[in-house]
Order: sequence, then structure tokens, then C-alpha cells
Amino acid sequence: MSTRSKSVPGAGGAAVPLAVLLRREVVGEKTAAERPELQSGLFSQAKKGEDFTFLKPDCERLPGVPSSSFSAFGLFDGHNGNAAAIYTKENLLNNILTAVPADLNRGDWLAALPRAMVAAFVKTDKDFQTKARSSGTTVTFVIIDGLVITVASVGDSRCVLEADGSIYHLSADHRFDASKEEVDRVTESGGDIGPLRCWPGGLCLSRSIGDQDVGEFIVPVPYVKQIKLSTAGGRLIISSDGVWDVLTAEVAFNCSQGLPPEAATEQIVKEAVQAKGLRDDTTCIVVDIITDKANLTTPLPKKQPGMGVFKNMFRKKTPSDSSSHTDREYMEPDIVEEIFEDGCAFLSRRLDCEYPVRNMFKLFICAICQVELKPSQGISVHEDSSQPGNLRRWDGPFLCQGCQEKKEAMEGKRRSRGRKIIHEDWYDMSILRSTLNCGPKTFIPVEVQPFLTPM
Ligand SMILES: [Zn+2]
Repeated sequence: MSTRSKSVPGAGGAAVPLAVLLRREVVGEKTAAERPELQSGLFSQAKKGEDFTFLKPDCERLPGVPSSSFSAFGLFDGHNGNAAAIYTKENLLNNILTAVPADLNRGDWLAALPRAMVAAFVKTDKDFQTKARSSGTTVTFVIIDGLVITVASVGDSRCVLEADGSIYHLSADHRFDASKEEVDRVTESGGDIGPLRCWPGGLCLSRSIGDQDVGEFIVPVPYVKQIKLSTAGGRLIISSDGVWDVLTAEVAFNCSQGLPPEAATEQIVKEAVQAKGLRDDTTCIVVDIITDKANLTTPLPKKQPGMGVFKNMFRKKTPSDSSSHTDREYMEPDIVEEIFEDGCAFLSRRLDCEYPVRNMFKLFICAICQVELKPSQGISVHEDSSQPGNLRRWDGPFLCQGCQEKKEAMEGKRRSRGRKIIHEDWYDMSILRSTLNCGPKTFIPVEVQPFLTPM
């Protein structure tokens, strides 16, 4: 296992020597050609027929470009009918891809994925509301690109990873009996929570796609975690609560150890059903990420200078490591690393991360549904009808009116009357900022603020 040297030339300074950049490019190209092999299996025992799965190992980010390939796996545990689960299975991946600019390189695509998954979950939920009211679904959606795994989840299905002899939980449990934070959030947004469930509706989940009849505070904003495997690879188990109500992750991995994925899924479901009988739909997906350890080296997604995309990045096993970001860019430590984690339920925070530079030229697209906005139509995600006068409402990203209404409904705020929209002067200012080569979130100098008189 390689370790990080503390004596890399230039590690303490801002500039990265060209030789290092070139070497990194060579490694990057090599990685694109030598991706780990994935083997997957699926087994399900139905009780209500409301579990649905999505296994697509051969997706391409850029159609016709094999080096842009990735794999996607999803589990949708429906309730109160199967419409939400089916709709999400059919639309979520497309909504994720639509939320990422088409021309990104691999590093930028991986960096944009967590934000795109948040947007896609909310868009899928919003679109589904026009189809049906009374069903909902958990979603555990996994994208594997090389050794980087990105998981977005709402509800109580789980994705767990065994790698390098350890078990990692890559999803959150959005259940009222599992999170006081979620109980507080829903209560503050106007939800009425009885013993472990939200009323009306009797839902035990605090987040899902669908469930419009229960209330908008049952939000579709996912917990997202992104990690990079070591060159040893690993095994993922994605299962509905029919498995996790009975088995711990340790038991699930142990009982299926050494079995190929298909047999492993069957064994895990068998163990779960044997213990307490078939009380619920019980579904399991196993994905083995198999590497050629001798040849494979995957760099971390490259950080764009000054973009701050990976501000949450840290080495999981040595959180106290004080090495600089510049330092870590030289290194390829061969351990499981956490790249990104955020489970906050509030859109203004989840969409508020820096976005790749190309998006600066697409300021006037709704960050959720991707519709084009006229300069007078965009509403900042920082716009808050309960806090008028907030200067940040001039900052992007922006939402269309429909998505802004959804955001406020999810946060339990009344639909704002006389909503403030972006003044058209703002449009002129954004062009000025681009001309000055400032990012969209740069503070406006005091002397030009009079141009931005709020309406
Ligand atoms: Zn929108």
C-alpha cells in the first residue's frame, strides 16, 4: 500500500510543476482504459410487488465514447402503490445526466455528480407530482465510475460497502425512529409526527420520492456520499429494509462471503426471510468491483484551481492529517477515501456548492429542472420570503418559479406572494462580472451596489 510522502517538491506552494501535471494526465489516460471489472447479481422475493430495481452496467456519459463509460444501479422500495417506484426507475438517471453539462471531463463530471443527483431527485419528485399523488418510494441510486462510487439515497433502503477489510455505510436511514434531526426538521416544517410516523399518511420515512399526500416536508433531497476505492476493489450490497430489518451489514457480508454476486444475493435474501418469514418485499443487489491490482492506479478527481469543489474532501482513515490540499493532489493513497458527504435537507445549501467553470455561461438555467430562464425569471436559491432584504438573493444558482415554490413548500414556508424576482439590472451585472472574469459568487464591490437596487 502506498503512503503519502510529506516531502514532495512544491507541495507547500500554490503552483503545481508541469511535470507533475503531465504525469497525472498520463495516469488519467491509463485509468480510462483500465477500469475495474464489475460483476452484479440481483435476487428478490416479492410480498407486495413494490420493490423495483435498475441495473445498467454499461452507460456512457458521452454517447459513443467508451472511455466515458460508467455503471448505474438503483433500488426503489415503493409504498402505497408502485407508481412512484416505477416512475423514478424510468426517469432518474436521465434527470441526473441532464443536470450535468454535457462537455465535462471526467474529473469535473465526478465533481458535479453530487449536486446533479440532488437536482435530479427533486426534479423527479416534482415531475411525478403531476402524474399521481398517493404513492412513494425509497431510492438508493449508485453510480460507479472507475474506482469512484457515488451514492444518493432517500428512505431506508441501504447501500453498504466492504473494502480493505472494513464495512462502510454509503447511505443514510431517513426514518423518524432513526434521526431526531429529521423529526425536528419535519415538525418545524408543519408535519405532525406521532409515534415513529408522520400523519396524515402514517409514513415512517422522513424522505422519499412521491408521498405528496403526506406533505411536502417529506422531501426528496438525498443524502449523497462519494468515495474512492483503493486498488483492492470491493463489494457493494444494496438492499431494501426487508433485508436490513433482519440482518446487520456484517451478517449480510459474512453469510455471502466467497459467493459470486448472483449466489450472494440469493443467500442474503434467504437468510433474511428464514429468520422472520417473508413479511415484506425483500430485494438485494450485489456488485463486485474487481480490479487488476498490479496495474490499476486511479487518481482522485482533479480539483479545478480556485473552484473549491472538494472542500469536504478528507482521508477517512487519518482525519487529523494536516497536509494541504495541494499536497494531496500529488498523491494517490491506496485506501478507501471519502471525497464528498452531505445529507442536509435544504436546497439552498445543497445547490450552493461551486460549480464547474462551464456553468458560469449557463447562469440562466433552473438548477433543478434545467429549463432556460429569461433574465427576469430566475429566483435565487437564497431568496427567502421569510427573510426579505437578504443580499444573497442576488447570488446564483437560480430556480424557475415552479421549483422555487417547491423549495418553499419543502421548507414549510408559505408560498410567497409578490415574490421578488431578479432585477434585469442583475443580468447586466452578470455580464460585467463575466467580463471581469469573476465567478458568479464574487462579492459585488460596494461602489457598484447601487446598480443592484432591489425591486
Ligand atoms: Zn425549475
